[in-house]
Amino acid sequence: MRLSRYFLPVLKENPSEAQIVSHRLMLRAGMIKQQAAGIYSWLPLGFKVLKNIEKIVHEEQIRAGHHPMLMPTLQSADLWRKSGRYDAYGPEMLRIRDRHDRDMLYGPTNEEMITDIVANYVTSYKAMPLTLYHVQWKFRDEVRPRFGVMRGREFYMKDGYNFDLTKADALHAYNRHLVSYLRTYERMGLQAIPMRADSGPIGGDYTHEFLVLADTGESEVFYDSEITDLRFGDRAIDYDDHAQCQAVLEEFTSRYARTDETHDAAEFARVPEARQRSARGIEVGQIFYFGTEYSEKLGAYVQNEAGERVALHMGSHGIGVSRLAGAIIEASHDENGIIWPYEVAPFKVGIVNVKQGDAEPDKACEDLYKAFSAAGIDTLYDDREERAGGKFATMDLIGCPWRVTVGPRGLKNGVVELTDRATGESEELAPELVVSRLT
Ligand code: ATP
Ligand code: MG
Repeated sequence: MRLSRYFLPVLKENPSEAQIVSHRLMLRAGMIKQQAAGIYSWLPLGFKVLKNIEKIVHEEQIRAGHHPMLMPTLQSADLWRKSGRYDAYGPEMLRIRDRHDRDMLYGPTNEEMITDIVANYVTSYKAMPLTLYHVQWKFRDEVRPRFGVMRGREFYMKDGYNFDLTKADALHAYNRHLVSYLRTYERMGLQAIPMRADSGPIGGDYTHEFLVLADTGESEVFYDSEITDLRFGDRAIDYDDHAQCQAVLEEFTSRYARTDETHDAAEFARVPEARQRSARGIEVGQIFYFGTEYSEKLGAYVQNEAGERVALHMGSHGIGVSRLAGAIIEASHDENGIIWPYEVAPFKVGIVNVKQGDAEPDKACEDLYKAFSAAGIDTLYDDREERAGGKFATMDLIGCPWRVTVGPRGLKNGVVELTDRATGESEELAPELVVSRLT
């Protein structure tokens, strides 16, 4: 993309409404624009990040054997009356009436709808195990929307639902989700720690929240510091292998790690004192197993092998896709701006032409830009007639992992400069070597 042709409304000043760094940087980098309390437009740069996060989520869900689909944002109140949640959900639910006076709502989550879908089509145990998911906008009329996309009212979420014949199978689905989430967050450059949580209105005994440690997090957490040494890494895993998934779950959840809702001071005291930590965390996901309650209320029964009619065991699992854009920035920035992990970066490389309008640098930049495009590397070429300082500031702000600086002085010596945004380290190399250096 040529910056002169792009829509990148960068702000010079710090917006006064932003209380935390991710909100401030998202506004300054022209990623989002607030439209109403807790409701945002995703401008082109922000939209690219959102889509990159979503892509990782999809890839890891599909790798785990889950099926993507799409349910609507608007739902009929009838299903929620069946589950009892139409009244129970309270003022966070945005209720809407259509022209025929039918009660509708903007979905805060989709347990009812997905259970109804499965109840309609699935009749035999042979369809199990089954996990369906979608990535869709949700609406929760939060009392205090704040921190930009971190706590929005309209937000983008991956929500998945598993349907299994037995509790044991559903617990395997639970373990599988935990493992796939570990992988998902690490690909975004995040350490998200699974912590024992409170199941709240959804009910059930099994639930973990995934928290990214950050001073600006809204949750208070307590953990054994050993847990922060764990990495999932790129280990191969067979998601159908129950024992393997169980082993990973045990590895990542056996140490003390809890949100304040489930914190137990007596148990925490048994963690060696030097390893006891209390901190703040951002909740970026949660998984649940909750049994047969929704299946019973919405009629999701199948015939088991013995020919008996049984209610399906269910769990649900959510990832805060739009919140993650903010969480990643909280975890990865410096005083000059965002430092995107490679996979979520809106552009992987930024080219800065120090002397726009001079034949030599212009030509070198054009060549580089074409070579990056040919290599499939998403590149932002700052081809504006602006002073170099301003261009550097913009690149640092929007945080592309690599910057290539092209100027007449370097070119005279046959080199351009390649800078790593994260470390600030630079090297000089011949322009024709840059692309291969990055691939
Ligand atoms: P919270 O405790 O932060 O209100 P929740 O536990 O009610 O969240 P879940 O139902 O577990 O949320 O939703 C799954 C994920 O969706 C959360 O882990 C979070 O990352 C994200 N999420 C929830 N509410 C919001 C919101 N208002 N704005 C942005 N993301 C949200
Ligand atoms: Mg939650």
